[in-house]
Amino acid sequence: MVYKITLIPGDGIGPEVVEAAKLCLEATGIDFEWEVCDAGEESLKKNGRLLPENTLNSIRRNKVALKGPITTPVGKGFRSINVELRKKLDLFCCLRPAKDIGVNTLHKDVDIVICRENTEDLYAGVEFDIGDEFVKEIKKAAEDRGTLGIIREDSAVSIKSISKSRSERIIRFAFEYALMNNRRKVTCVHKANILKYTDGLFLKTFNEVARDYEGRIEYDDFIIDNLSMQLVMRPGRFDVLVLPNLYGDIISDLCAGLVGGLGVAAGANIGEDIAVFEPVHGSVPKYTGKNKVNPSAAILSGAMMLKYLYQNQAAERIENAVREVIRQAEFVTYDLLPLDKRDKAVSTMQMAEAIAQIIKKY
Ligand code: NAD
Repeated sequence: MVYKITLIPGDGIGPEVVEAAKLCLEATGIDFEWEVCDAGEESLKKNGRLLPENTLNSIRRNKVALKGPITTPVGKGFRSINVELRKKLDLFCCLRPAKDIGVNTLHKDVDIVICRENTEDLYAGVEFDIGDEFVKEIKKAAEDRGTLGIIREDSAVSIKSISKSRSERIIRFAFEYALMNNRRKVTCVHKANILKYTDGLFLKTFNEVARDYEGRIEYDDFIIDNLSMQLVMRPGRFDVLVLPNLYGDIISDLCAGLVGGLGVAAGANIGEDIAVFEPVHGSVPKYTGKNKVNPSAAILSGAMMLKYLYQNQAAERIENAVREVIRQAEFVTYDLLPLDKRDKAVSTMQMAEAIAQIIKKY
């Protein structure tokens, strides 16, 4: 069988890490047909479009994509292509495993999977700048309704909205994921003690959905601030986490830090029948073209893709090979070495080749 996959190299260091991931995926012996597509600044120069319809159609057709990071200029220029891609394809779950892969870190027993709601909450994009007439209207509406909260005249306002249907969808996804992957427990993360309606709805929906899995999957809930402390002190007690968008974004990076940082953090954005796999890290503009950054995050995202395609054995061979190369510490990039040994670092492609050699052997 040949797997037809949309391949988006992205920009910055994207093409380098995507090439590394491709090398390791092909080392498994599985047949891939790569449909290479553009997105981002390069695409704007080439096609006049940041996210060409061709690219979206290729993903819709193939259902699976492997993607490199894409630069989003801060405070100017275009909106994030990554956000647009998730919206247009309704990729409602940002799935991020944080598993000990052998990097020398504080905790050795981390194996957490994060299911972050990807489409609403404060990231839905309903924002009003200081001076916007609508801020006055919201202020007046709040006052007319006698709410205790205060919106000052000189405020900018972002709306946090959480729906029952979208909450149910991500929570059910988390439980189904837990069942299919032999996980023990799902934990709901929220701030429902303060945000009684939005996070309150998320928590209430969680408890309703959880009843359908009674006796099969354990469940509990944590307030986000307590969870943050517990994660840093005893991450081993957590299994699958399900979170609204903003908390999910922050906790994903915290968990990436627990297992060795962005260089090893893999991820996926998953919809009803489409999935886009990509490293958590960005385009690292300062190292573009230097063949220097750690390819592991992109390679492990490729392994996640194989699991999605039910190629579990091949995925495990990739994970084991990454773990082995990190353990040997002979062919690793700068970020995996102590400061005084960084002159021994190898390039992105050299590390990928060392991983591919092991994949081919086992
Ligand atoms: P970044 O992840 O690009 O880099 C932050 C720092 O992390 C780097 O300076 C580097 O020290 C380290 N790092 C990241 N990846 C690494 C790797 N593979 N190996 C070794 N070290 C690594 O984050 P940023 O600087 O905040 O963002 C740069 C650009 O990337 C921005 O335009 C941002 O919008 C974009 N971005 C895109 C995505 C995506 O496409 N999914 C995700 C995050 C950021």
